[in-house]
Amino acid sequence: MSDRDEPRELVPDDGLAAVFLAVPDALLVFSREGRVRAANPAAQRFLDADPTGWSLERLAALDGVFAPLQDFLDDLHHQRSAWTAQLHSARRKRDLAVVASAWDGGSVVLLHDITDLLDRGRFRDEMLRLASHDLRAPLALVMNYCDLIAAELPDASPRVTQYLDVIRRFTGRMLNLLDAILRIDQIRLSPLELHEQVNPAELARLAVENMIWPADQKNQQLEADVQAGTELLTADPLLIQEAMENLIGNAIKYTPDGGHIAVRAHVEAGRFHFVVEDNGVGFGQEHLPHIFEAFYRAKQPGTEQVEGSGLGLNLVKTAIERHLGEVWVESREGEGSRFGFWLPLQSTKE
Ligand code: ADP
Repeated sequence: MSDRDEPRELVPDDGLAAVFLAVPDALLVFSREGRVRAANPAAQRFLDADPTGWSLERLAALDGVFAPLQDFLDDLHHQRSAWTAQLHSARRKRDLAVVASAWDGGSVVLLHDITDLLDRGRFRDEMLRLASHDLRAPLALVMNYCDLIAAELPDASPRVTQYLDVIRRFTGRMLNLLDAILRIDQIRLSPLELHEQVNPAELARLAVENMIWPADQKNQQLEADVQAGTELLTADPLLIQEAMENLIGNAIKYTPDGGHIAVRAHVEAGRFHFVVEDNGVGFGQEHLPHIFEAFYRAKQPGTEQVEGSGLGLNLVKTAIERHLGEVWVESREGEGSRFGFWLPLQSTKE
């Protein structure tokens, strides 16, 4: 084939031709020698020209984003593999994900515009920085000043004391919310290399132990059946224990005084299973698809006074999925709920 072959001949099937013409990403087909054999309309728009027949040098002279392509196309032909890179077009002021793939006769290069995606990422990072520092620090100061005022005014009227309590309570709520948001982000970004070999049954026992006191406060019966196992899990132990405590904590929160909570943990078919069952308020089926979403609260009758951010279950889901496991839930309004997760046991030791 010559370097001037039409795209139509390169993509013999009508369906493929349609994809080549309609795809919004710029697609360029190169010969083995590095000349453009075909460029789809998106590529022509990106270049403001039809580059068919152009050499890579000519492309790079027009837009520097093509400059690094020479080396990797050479590489590709030797190894016949695929290549991806994040490059910037100064001419277009766009960030691009560049994907290239080669076969015997040439290579295909796709340019996908990720400018908006990166912008959103930068905005999100900025918001998190704002939350962690610019919002958190002044809120912590408000809390401290409330304590100072209370200390300075030992004979304050009950009304002043009440006002201070309200400020402290709401400020505390905002601080908890910020901490939960930051914690979820931290989990998402946490490096998996930091994980250790841990005994999940041991974590379950510790989690139950830590929740005995809150359950006692509500005269609830907290029953645990944690089957001792020697199987180890590759995990961030604090995170898994935190997820377990979140589920038990929710069962306590959403179960009236005197209720019953059962925690069960066991290993089966290479998986560690953890389940928390309660006979609390439960919730209707319409909430099921959303219950693990961030900020989602079912707001069942009887839970009006229960404080929360709707982030606890999202934290559990994020933590468990980070460990390649899965969360699940069953619930009946007015009868109770069963929340659980499983985690893959990557390595088993005596
Ligand atoms: P929060 O408790 O702070 O609102 P979560 O993310 O932990 O946030 O839970 C989200 C929602 O799921 C809660 O608002 C509640 O409506 C519902 N929920 C969670 N656990 C239970 C439970 N054990 N029983 C009934 N409802 C629950």
